[in-house]
Amino acid sequence: MAILVQKFGGTSVADAEKILAAARKAIRAQKQGYQVVTVVSAMGHTTDHLIELAKQIDPDPPAREMDMLLSTGEQVSVALMAMAIHRLGHRAISFTGAQLGIRTDSTHTKARIRSIQTDRIRQALDEGYIVIAAGFQGVTDTADITTLGRGGSDTTAVALAAALRAETCEIYTDVDGVYTTDPRLVPEARRMSRISYDEMLELATAGAGVMHNRSIEFAKRFSVPVHVRSSFSDMPGTLISWMPESRSVPVCGAAAILKEARITVRGVPDQPGNAAAIFSRLGARNIATDMIVQNVAEGGRADISFTVFQEELPAALRVVEETAREIGAEGVNYDENVAKVSVVGLGMAKQPGVAQRMFQALADKGINILMITTSEIKISVLVERDRAVEALRTVHAAFELDKEPPQAEEEARPEELGNDRDRIIGRLHGMEDLVIESICLDETQACVTLSNIPDRPGLAARVFRQVAEREIVVDMIVQSVGRDGKAMMSFTVPQSSYEAALAACRPFCQEIGAAPPTGRPKVAKLSILGTGLKSHIDVASRTFKTLAHSQINVEMISTSEVRLNVVTTGDKGRQALTVLRQEFAEELLDL
Ligand code: ADP
Ligand code: ASP
Ligand code: MG
Repeated sequence: MAILVQKFGGTSVADAEKILAAARKAIRAQKQGYQVVTVVSAMGHTTDHLIELAKQIDPDPPAREMDMLLSTGEQVSVALMAMAIHRLGHRAISFTGAQLGIRTDSTHTKARIRSIQTDRIRQALDEGYIVIAAGFQGVTDTADITTLGRGGSDTTAVALAAALRAETCEIYTDVDGVYTTDPRLVPEARRMSRISYDEMLELATAGAGVMHNRSIEFAKRFSVPVHVRSSFSDMPGTLISWMPESRSVPVCGAAAILKEARITVRGVPDQPGNAAAIFSRLGARNIATDMIVQNVAEGGRADISFTVFQEELPAALRVVEETAREIGAEGVNYDENVAKVSVVGLGMAKQPGVAQRMFQALADKGINILMITTSEIKISVLVERDRAVEALRTVHAAFELDKEPPQAEEEARPEELGNDRDRIIGRLHGMEDLVIESICLDETQACVTLSNIPDRPGLAARVFRQVAEREIVVDMIVQSVGRDGKAMMSFTVPQSSYEAALAACRPFCQEIGAAPPTGRPKVAKLSILGTGLKSHIDVASRTFKTLAHSQINVEMISTSEVRLNVVTTGDKGRQALTVLRQEFAEELLDL
């Protein structure tokens, strides 16, 4: 009999009536012939209230006790849900994470699932019960309760669907699907009928709170179709699955993280190892970094800027200030009133001018771009927080995301998937272990750097307009604000376009009083491809550290969920490839 996993989020089980409505959905699925596993979240805002309560007692509560506390929210819901099904005349049994056999590591409040023992669930299903599973929680090998991170019930649901080889995982929530952006922030947002795993993964990490990003890692890794739908209606929803890489639209969605903070370490002695020290110490404290940009400053020193979640700023600053002193940097500054706006799309890799279109739209509204990073399927900009929602709405309009795409797109499974999937699953020690598909080297690119550009709205748009007018294809872009309000920007172009790119920028630099463009006619770009490269936050710091050990300087870096790119000097490409393959040998599939 086919298994169906259904997950109900907090608002979908917020009161008794809603719990009964969810129970009816589970019963209906059982009547349709499925064995049903229902994953539930804590009721309404329970988790928020529990966190508030804890903070009234201790602003920085012990993580183990936090998990003990937070897991109670889901325990209430499973019991009530089982009672509801019982009341409606059907059989149901509730289980906590421990009873479900969800084993995790011991990273309290952000634990990763290692394994799921499905025997007890299967037995209950075979006996005709609807199984009610507590979302968001697990247990360590030493029987300590853990939680998976905010929004983690999605991950419980997809992981259970994977472990039980369920037909589909249905996510019931308070919106009727995945929208082109958060419909609460941008009313023009449009529901998508389908979206690919990679796009959803990037959107989720970029701030689309509708799905927990790690749930999509599971879905992709184990090929679980995920169907996001409304708890309150029978609308068709959104299917998250495989899609062709050549999508006709360049951008499928936009997202924002409104509470980010920028940290800059100023005047870092420009030696391999210094950047690695900063990021590995942050990684060791489990603080994720994003949008990393290095500005080459004068006198053999560099400024390194990156963003963290605002709530992690105090902890990050403690680590960074100490490290800055040790490596002899000049100082640390930060800005906590910033937000990140991103656009995502599989189609952008094949279509030039996407970044320029985004920058131009923001320029037309006078919105200043503080930082830029790009990867193959995502462009992110940092803006002032009070302009962020406007920026999100602006880019949504610029890519006409409110309009239905011209052609319907079908599911397309990669052909080699069957083998790959079994090979991946066969090698995993833990279900959420890092898996890297390949590490590759691109030696065809050059890099152009513009420094001392006045930090004004519209400059990025102008640079890329000049470049686009000469039909130069731009690959990676990084920009950040340097000293005295002057920005620095680097981007890569094909080596054959290097001179043309310099020539395109020269008059513009002269006109705005910036230094003449510089660059390297040949650089090496290394790409690490996999799934969950960002949520496994040590991938970036291991990359930095490995390259530093071999005295290889990282000139540019961009991180996304499915790809981490680093640019080094042209002569170091082969060596960098070798050392990175050694470093990630255990996780690398194509060795
Ligand atoms: P649940 O409690 O069911 O897990 P969440 O609050 O976690 O629900 O997720 C649903 C919310 O996600 C929606 O109410 C919506 O405001 C927000 N959201 C953010 N981005 C998107 C998006 N791209 N599509 C749909 N909803 C989104
Ligand atoms: N209750 C948890 C939270 O609010 C988990 C979830 O709802 O997915 O984050
Ligand atoms: Mg959620």
